[in-house]
Amino acid sequence: MTEATHAASDAASRADVLRWQGGYRHGLAVAVAGGALLLRALGVVSAQSVGAAWYGARTASELFALAALLYIAITAVIRWRTRRAHAASRALVRIQLAADVLVVHACALMLTPPSQFDRTLIISMFLVQFTQLYFGWRTTLFELAAVAVSYTTIVTLAYRANMMSSPSEQLWTFALFCLGSLAYAWMLGHQGVRMKRLTHLFEKAREGDFDEPYEDGRDKFPDYITQIGRAYNELRGHLETIILTDPLSGCFNRRGFAQLTEREISRSIRAKWRVAILALDVDHFKRINDDFGHLTGDEAIKEIGALIRETARAGDVVARTGGEEFSILAPDTDEAGAMHLAGRVMQAFRERSFTSLRGQMPITISIGVASDDASADVVCILTARADEALYVAKRNGRDQAVLWQTGMRAFDTGSSRVSREMERMP
Ligand code: GH3
Ligand code: MG
Ligand code: MG
Repeated sequence: MTEATHAASDAASRADVLRWQGGYRHGLAVAVAGGALLLRALGVVSAQSVGAAWYGARTASELFALAALLYIAITAVIRWRTRRAHAASRALVRIQLAADVLVVHACALMLTPPSQFDRTLIISMFLVQFTQLYFGWRTTLFELAAVAVSYTTIVTLAYRANMMSSPSEQLWTFALFCLGSLAYAWMLGHQGVRMKRLTHLFEKAREGDFDEPYEDGRDKFPDYITQIGRAYNELRGHLETIILTDPLSGCFNRRGFAQLTEREISRSIRAKWRVAILALDVDHFKRINDDFGHLTGDEAIKEIGALIRETARAGDVVARTGGEEFSILAPDTDEAGAMHLAGRVMQAFRERSFTSLRGQMPITISIGVASDDASADVVCILTARADEALYVAKRNGRDQAVLWQTGMRAFDTGSSRVSREMERMP
């Protein structure tokens, strides 16, 4: 993912969150503000508040109702904008969060007796944790700062209105609130980082890359995320086998071949090696199916896969790339080395008595060989060349290996893709 696509996906996910949270904000604003005003009107809760001391209880209630309506309007505009743009900037998120904090403190100032200001901190605690969960650390610290400014403001105003004898008690409560909020937000943030790491590992696994394990040793306080990570580590080997291996022959499949060759080629480019590709096709395999049936044919493919793997070197990548077609990528191998390897494979076939065929039929194999200096597109080039050489080996009577050479023409039709590519090659 490039930086630009990363930023776009972040903006889209912020918009998503603001959109769905907007619905809850509206519902809560109506329920809490309406509930507070109703309880106040019914005289169920105390009419004492800083706002009431300034303007009288009725005007204080009206002012808060106005603030609540303004909050609902701001939230509606933000929802409308994010729905239209499918993206939300960090600034837009912060406007919404500042509005949350302000409306909560406006409620405290206009409707709540200063002795009950702690209620504001309970609600702020939820706001801060939700922010950490959905918007990350920096925005959480912004929101905590907004709470600090708003809370100390209402405490100061209550003190000035002679409605609070000891603001230091409130500030001590506030200090504890900050400590608790930060500790909990840190824990959520830590979990978020590890969840992201797991998501990244699963995304790589989807591409067939199982290289990186979940490093559970880095979890100072192991928890359920650590357990998921450990389960992933246990599954890693099985998943790799399932996704990258052909179950019949036990060799890599096309996906495995593509992934392993990519890794080998990067290494070979750094080491300035030559690399070789061998294209193998079993001779007259149809006859095996015709004479022994498809099930026996499958058993033969199993044996053939095992034989090629046994004969190749440890660092070679052996894959079943078609029905009875195989490919070998041999790193650090020039033409002579590749032809030597091809000879060894053919000899192994000649000497093997295949148990699936009860030793009644020999199997031979034809091989096309190509080698070149490692480069970014060498696999593509060498595969085309090895296919050409394989075709020549078939045409020349099978059970042989042919090395690709410049000017080799395996396909008669000038329209062949491979032929055209070859013409462009030096
Ligand atoms: P050639 O020497 O020209 O390669 O002759 P061939 O008979 O091997 O011909 P070709 O490569 O064109 O065809 C391969 C045959 O192998 C076709 C198909 O019936 C058989 N085959 C391919 N995949 C499988 C498989 O998974 N199981 C079985 N039993 N047979 C397969
Ligand atoms: Mg074939
Ligand atoms: Mg064949």
